[in-house]
Amino acid sequence: MSLQTEFATLRRRLARAGYRLTPQRWTVWVALQELGGHPTAERLYQQVRASHPMVSRATVYKTLDLLVRVGLLTALPAVDGVTRFDAGPPHVNLECVHCGRIEDVQEPRVLAALSRLAGGRGFRVDRGVLVRGTCARCGGQTADGRRAGAGSESYEGRNGHG
Ligand SMILES: [Zn+2]
Ligand SMILES: [Zn+2]
Repeated sequence: MSLQTEFATLRRRLARAGYRLTPQRWTVWVALQELGGHPTAERLYQQVRASHPMVSRATVYKTLDLLVRVGLLTALPAVDGVTRFDAGPPHVNLECVHCGRIEDVQEPRVLAALSRLAGGRGFRVDRGVLVRGTCARCGGQTADGRRAGAGSESYEGRNGHG
């Protein structure tokens, strides 16, 4: 999607919920797209600040809250207690409780099955889902049968701020 299309879509989705697309909100959205994956609010703030030093931390945090509220962003309550944000379309997130890594699985059939299950109770699934367990590196069997060392791997967003 081009930035222009994206801008129009975001503006429409916000307007439908009764909000304006301010330059600050747009900046936060662009930072989300740039980072991808599952950044923390603090990591996003760093990303925004790099190009827009005048946007405050409070604005970034409030914008994230707003985007979650209107359904444009999924907040994942990660095991370390620090919320991760996911701007992608609904998908399955596999979170390792040992190393904190979150892996995306694009499997529309799983979400369709969950939608049917929830729909039977009048419940609409509009966010991604979070599944917890142990990843292949942290105790799951690797392809060659070796056990990977937990904690040897760090990923962006887990280090430093927050
Ligand atoms: Zn792991
Ligand atoms: Zn994800």
